[in-house]
This record gives sequence, structure tokens and C-alpha cells, in this order.
Amino acid sequence: MAGVFDIDLESEEVSDTEEDACELTVVEPDGSGQTEEVELTSESVNRDSERVGPDCFELLTVLGKGAYGKVFQVRKVQGSQTGKIFAMKVLRKAKIVCNAKDTAHTRAEREILEKVRHPFIVDLLYAFQTGGKLYLILECLSGGELFMQLEKEGIFMEDTACFYLGEITMALGHLHSNGIIYRDLKPENIMLCQQGHIKLTDFGLSKESIHDGSITHTFCGTIEYMAPEILTRSGHNRAVDWWSLGALMHDMLTGSPPFTAENRKKTIDKILKCKVNLPPYLTADARDMIKKLLKKNPAQRLGSGKGDAADIQKHPFFRHTSWEELLNKRVEPPYKPQLHSEEDVSQFDTRFTRQTPVDSPDDSRLSHSAELAFAGFSFVAPSVLESLKEGFSFEPRSRHIRRHNSSPRTPIR
Ligand code: ATP
Ligand code: MG
Repeated sequence: MAGVFDIDLESEEVSDTEEDACELTVVEPDGSGQTEEVELTSESVNRDSERVGPDCFELLTVLGKGAYGKVFQVRKVQGSQTGKIFAMKVLRKAKIVCNAKDTAHTRAEREILEKVRHPFIVDLLYAFQTGGKLYLILECLSGGELFMQLEKEGIFMEDTACFYLGEITMALGHLHSNGIIYRDLKPENIMLCQQGHIKLTDFGLSKESIHDGSITHTFCGTIEYMAPEILTRSGHNRAVDWWSLGALMHDMLTGSPPFTAENRKKTIDKILKCKVNLPPYLTADARDMIKKLLKKNPAQRLGSGKGDAADIQKHPFFRHTSWEELLNKRVEPPYKPQLHSEEDVSQFDTRFTRQTPVDSPDDSRLSHSAELAFAGFSFVAPSVLESLKEGFSFEPRSRHIRRHNSSPRTPIR
């Protein structure tokens, strides 16, 4: 599929680092004054220069907060790409390690981001760790969350929804073709880049290596956008993402997800039993697509067949979409985020951006066995390695809660 980027760190470009594979380097952890040895492998670093650690990044602003730590806007102040703005997701190992499943999720997030490159999926540039924390350095998506935009508009016109749903469909199709189920498709994980295109973020709950036919039983995600078969734990496959796409489509076109209630139990009940109720102003094509995506039986759901995303792309709702143009970002986004500079954080919630950005010192050390869970976390993107090798610095290529103040945005963990 177009856009697939297989990261092959054993390739020609980096093979000359092999003799360094077992060397150790010293990284200053976050303000604790201690140093820590991090294993260098051909996967993790370029021989000549980059020793990437927290000191390479200046904290600018808090962008968001998750279950395991914060996301900051940062500026790189050392090495290649000095001056460039990134997002830095910091996860506390101690919180993750409490739960073996979460350790798997976090590893999956790095592994997935490392493996998957797509125009509509966030790019991972670096990953590294200190004694107490894991760091992911991501492209900074200054357009904020898509649903900040939806919040402003109330609902989207169908052609606007069509643009966003089209880009999301291509991103999900790409993940599926790599054996990855996203599983956590929900408003706050869908972000906009500076130009207004979709970027899926947050792969903490995606699960790797699930190919056609095989099924997984882990229960996670956010309830309002969750497929019935996840809720009943009856095993699920990639069709769960197409259910969530249907729930998102409903949200975009009507202003709320299809099944909501005052508490989680009642919401689950509705998702499992109730028929979706569609307002009369939707076009016949939109109604048809929502109904087909929200089929409770995954085997009957649009997209569950061999064609996967291609079957959805053929639906008449997308009749005016030129998929190649869309993939190449040649379709003008419906909204262009109003940004005044690379550092502009106006698209993020002031609850976060008003906070003083501090990455609190964490010199805790885990037991050896717990630490093993994070072995091999460090990473430098091949694009960065290549630009270093070529000797020039890298140039970039190219709501408050809307309806319910708790449930739709509260992940089950
Ligand atoms: P997890 O479910 O793995 O715990 P999380 O919800 O804690 O993840 P994210 O969803 O990755 O973490 O990030 C939290 C928030 O930080 C996002 O909702 C978003 O507002 C902001 N954010 C995340 N990644 C980026 C990015 N690359 N650029 C800008 N902002 C980001
Ligand atoms: Mg999230």
C-alpha cells in the first residue's frame, strides 16, 4: 500500500554502526543530577553524534495529560534539528509497570509508531528513557484535537465530515494492512497538523501483530465509541475500528455519539441492544453508511470483509472523493488552524497550556526485572539518521468536554 514505510535499521545506511552495538553511553536524566547508562544498539543511535536524552529538549508548554504522564511542546536545543519544535510524551515507568498489560501497551506504542509511517499517522522521531521515565518525541501537531474544531462548529457539514472520515479511513486501512488494530479511535486521539490534515495519535492501546483471522480479548478503550464485541469480551478483530468510525461519523454529523446514557452500564446496554436513531436531515448515503458501520454483528459490518478500508472507500458517501488526491494531501482541508508561529498553542486547552511546564525529577529506579520490560525502548528515526549521515540538518517535510463531562473521554484501564 502506498505510504508504507518499513523501518529497517539493519539496512546499509546504518550498518557501519554495528561495531558500536554493545557500547554504552551516558545520558543525564531529568534534573536528578544522576547519570544512567543506556545501551546503544544500531537501532538506537547514530555513532558519530546524537546522544538523545531529556537535556536535548527545552520544555515550552504543557499540551495535554494522560494516564501515565504529560505531553509537552518542546524545542530541540542540541544536535541535529536544533531549534525545531516537537511534542514530547513522557510516561512514568513506575505507573506503567504496576500493570503488565500496560507495559505491553507502551511497548506497542513505540513499536507501532516506529514501524508505521503514513501521512495521517503521527511521526515518531526519537524515543529514549531515563531511570524513571520513557520519552517519545513526536511531530508536534499544532492544529490540536479535531474535536476542538467540532466543538466550535457543533456539527460538521457532510462534505467536511467526508474529508476527515476519508483521511481516517486511509490511516486505519494502513494500520490494518500492517496487522495493527487501532482499537482506541475516539475524538481526542484524532489530531490536526498545521495544515489541517488528520493525524492519528496515541497508540498506547493499539495491539500489534493481529493478522486476519486471529482475535484478541483485551478490554480497553473508551466506551461511547467502543464496538459491542469489545464490551461483551467475545473476541474482536479489525472490524472494531470500523464500528468506532461509524460512532465518530454519527458524532460529527449529529453532535453526539450514537449511544449515550447517564452512566457506563446504561451506555453499554444501549450499545449492545438499541437500534441507532438517525435524525432526518442526514442524506441517504450518510444514513446508509452509519447503519452499515454500526452493525452489531461484526461479520456483517461494512469493512469487515477482505477488502477492509477499500470496501468503505467504495461506499457512495465517498462518491466524490479522489483517494489518490486525498492521500497526497492535495485536497484542501475544510479548516486551516489559525496559527501565528510554530510554537502557537492556541488550539490546545488552556487548562494545560497555562500550566508551568515541568518534567518533575524522577530518579526512581525500578527493580532489574521491571526494568527489563523497557529494554530496547530507545530509538532514532531513520529519517534523522539519514539526514545526519548526509551531513545536513533535517528539514521538515512537507472542549472542554463536549457533551458528557466524564464518560466519553474517560478511558477504561
Ligand atoms: P495513553 O492512552 O497512551 O495513556 P494519553 O491519552 O495519555 O495516552 P495521548 O493521547 O498521546 O496520551 O496525549 C494526550 C494529549 O496530548 C492528546 O489528547 C493531545 O491533546 C496532546 N498530544 C498528544 N500527542 C501530541 C502531538 N504529537 N502533538 C501535539 N499534541 C499532542
Ligand atoms: Mg489519548
